[in-house]
Amino acid sequence: MSIEKVLIANRGEIALRIHRACKEMGLATVAVHSEADADAMAVRLADESVCIGPPPSSESYLKKSRIIAAAEITGADAIHPGYGFLSENAQFAEMVEAHDLIFIGPKSEHIKTMGDKIAAKQAMIDAGVPVVPGSDGEVASIGEAKKAAKKIGYPVLVKASAGGGGRGMKLAMTEKDLETAVRTAKTESKAAFGDDAVYLEKYLQKPRHIEIQVIADSHGNVCHLWERDCSIQRRHQKVFEEAPSPALNQAQRDDIGAIVARAVAKFGYLGVGTMEFLYEDGEFYFIEMNTRLQVEHPVTEMVTRVDLVREQIRIAGGAKLSFSQEELTLVGHAIECRINAEHPETFMPSPGVIEEFHAPGGPGVRLDSAAYAGYRIPPHYDSMIGKLIVHGRTRNECVMRLRRALDETIIGPIHTSLDLHRRLVQEQDIINGEYDIHWLERYLDKS
Ligand code: ADP
Repeated sequence: MSIEKVLIANRGEIALRIHRACKEMGLATVAVHSEADADAMAVRLADESVCIGPPPSSESYLKKSRIIAAAEITGADAIHPGYGFLSENAQFAEMVEAHDLIFIGPKSEHIKTMGDKIAAKQAMIDAGVPVVPGSDGEVASIGEAKKAAKKIGYPVLVKASAGGGGRGMKLAMTEKDLETAVRTAKTESKAAFGDDAVYLEKYLQKPRHIEIQVIADSHGNVCHLWERDCSIQRRHQKVFEEAPSPALNQAQRDDIGAIVARAVAKFGYLGVGTMEFLYEDGEFYFIEMNTRLQVEHPVTEMVTRVDLVREQIRIAGGAKLSFSQEELTLVGHAIECRINAEHPETFMPSPGVIEEFHAPGGPGVRLDSAAYAGYRIPPHYDSMIGKLIVHGRTRNECVMRLRRALDETIIGPIHTSLDLHRRLVQEQDIINGEYDIHWLERYLDKS
């Protein structure tokens, strides 16, 4: 079935990103939006738009039946879920298929398996992928948790099987903390995800977060597009990402890429996906797989020159991957800074009107943002308003270019994370690429 009209079931910069890929492929677009997003850039640019409800996402972007109705009314053939919202909702993927529409994403069974982190870990063990040492599946009682933790060795991390966005994750330094950690992780997970299954993992002290991008078509072709290093995080949320990782050499990145591609081929996976690992002392440990496009996908696009969204849409329409593993090459270095509308000290969201807006430009600079001068950031959604991505022939050139691009960027008078990024790119550890997942929190505690 070929795709001619795509409904974009998302908002903000990713809705615009998907619209851009569609236009370059000659496809028509439908934007769905809440009442708060009537003036959004993707809504203005799309060929058609449909308002699907009031501002809260539970009343709009998460309303499956309204989105499907919008696709039927406008005659769209396919739905792109972007990231967040319904992108990893297996039930939504099934509903889309049941209405003879194409879901631009993996099969619902794969979304389901990978959304259950305990099942995902087991699937990886079976596929020969190295995982973080941990409990043997769910720990159902405090007694079981204590037994498992003793075997693993403290500190341990209690993690929710249904978890995401860092929620339902609690650290226990010693056995004394374990009971509280298990209880709070369970309560948090039950409230956020309606499921309180938790498991234990060894808490790694100084790992990097390194993730591998994969893509698979329905003809059995699977490629990996190497890694992204997303170790600069605050509260388990990524802030700054780069590709390739300064910690790996070419042989290491080819090896882990091949392991991931083999595992993905074994599952019969379809579409784009990311396998996330922690990397410490030369070893990789799987933590989870995301069955969707990631926020940080542009760094991979910059170093491989592959348009991941375009490929994603082509594959969903039944086409073969437009490249083979051998045809892929890594060129230069790319870094992405997430620009959030937030207070620089409290990190609280800082919505409001953007009065001044100047986008950086010049060689090797890409700004993925749906913001513009006069844009009112609604208070109802995530605080990310864009991503600045730069490419250079070397990491050093990339860092120098990032500094000047950050200096050119003006977004005001609202508070943004631009100043934090301006400071980060002056730090010796960042310049040297020497950091782990706790680096940013240590840095913020100090400053
Ligand atoms: P979520 O789905 O909630 O984002 P992840 O499993 O992807 O959870 O983990 C998010 C982040 O939490 C990781 O990038 C890492 O910083 C930290 N983390 C996860 N597991 C461990 C672990 N076993 N040891 C240390 N840090 C961890």
